[in-house]
Amino acid sequence: MKRLVLLGGGHAHVHVLDALARAPLPDTEVTLVSPYPQQIYSGMLPGWIAGHYPLDACAIALPPLAARAGCTLRQTRAIALDLAARDVLCADGARIGFDWLSIDTGPTTARHRIAGADAHALAVRPIESFVDGIARLLAEAAETPTLAVAIIGGGAAGVELAFALRQRCPDARLSLIGSAARPLDGLPRRLQHRANALLADRRIAWHGGRRAQRVDATGVALDDGTRIAARHVLQVTGAAAPRWPAAAGLACDDGGFIRVDASLRSTSHPFVFAAGDIARYSDPRPKSGVFAVRAGPPLAANLRAAIGTEALTPWRAQRCALYLISTGNRHALAAWGPLAWWGDWVWRWKDRIDRRFVARFSA
Ligand SMILES: Cc1cc2nc3c(=O)[nH]c(=O)nc-3n(C[C@H](O)[C@H](O)[C@H](O)COP(=O)(O)OP(=O)(O)OC[C@H]3O[C@@H](n4cnc5c(N)ncnc54)[C@H](O)[C@@H]3O)c2cc1C
Repeated sequence: MKRLVLLGGGHAHVHVLDALARAPLPDTEVTLVSPYPQQIYSGMLPGWIAGHYPLDACAIALPPLAARAGCTLRQTRAIALDLAARDVLCADGARIGFDWLSIDTGPTTARHRIAGADAHALAVRPIESFVDGIARLLAEAAETPTLAVAIIGGGAAGVELAFALRQRCPDARLSLIGSAARPLDGLPRRLQHRANALLADRRIAWHGGRRAQRVDATGVALDDGTRIAARHVLQVTGAAAPRWPAAAGLACDDGGFIRVDASLRSTSHPFVFAAGDIARYSDPRPKSGVFAVRAGPPLAANLRAAIGTEALTPWRAQRCALYLISTGNRHALAAWGPLAWWGDWVWRWKDRIDRRFVARFSA
């Protein structure tokens, strides 16, 4: 019997599980390691905060998906790998042996890059503790409507979260801090201007071109000396890598993301595969759920081929990802390469795509 261990129930692995449910791997025992019994779909998280969805509607339950795939679910977290012994070391003390390992554990938040963030900021990852923190924040905002909240991170996730909070907390004092001059750096200029105008319109103070340097119990200090008073600080500063893949000896890039070849196989350990934000593709792409989702089918096919000692098929990710950024009030902004659109129809488009994704793996 061969042993395949899937680390993390991320966007690519839910597809692998679905593929296994449709066509089981012969003579292979499959184990899924996940710290939580559900995968909260980040694309719908701002909609949960805005009050458009209950949390259950934004989550894929892993136990039924694993059961359909004939896979054992171990509810714990990988903390280290012993690649010589081919063991995963888990937070609950277990060692799980494998012949083949696939890693889709997503990104972490780089807490250490901002002094005091560990103690005083709520990090967007892990999403489960972020959800708990946001639930507390919303309860407090119900008591104190003018609550001051600062969000560090002017990318798509930070912008969406700011708009979602505005929708839910109309009188809160909201600040959004970004290191680029305009929000949504890297997306079309037209969209950045639109986001800027909407932030002003919704009374969200934009502090661009500055970095958060220190967070304490009273707010955030920026690198130009500005102080932003805030009762709550959210850290939404983009994808960072956990330490354990590089510590185990897997080939990683300078950021600690696992280097994989075009078949999603580790460039240093041929019995290890990786996909999603934790992976550094041979033809790199931005860290985004879209690319993690797209990696699911080639990952499933190549795990099957590797275990069956067949040839692997290279995967080439699409050049552009569709960005759909909700603005809280059932409107959304969209970007595809240099093109940009917005409107309530964009939100309905996003809503359909998001609901379909969750429903597909929850059926
Ligand atoms: C608010 C917000 C909104 C976003 N909206 C969008 C969007 O609309 N479109 C888009 O393309 N991208 C969006 N993103 C980015 C997107 O969330 C990520 O790119 C995507 O989640 C990456 O998918 P993944 O499969 O790599 O990891 P994840 O989705 O993070 O899944 C990783 C899984 O692994 C588990 N895990 C973590 N550590 C371990 C461990 N040590 N052992 C075992 N399991 C572990 C986690 O619990 C999780 O279930 C958004 C991000 C945020 C924060």
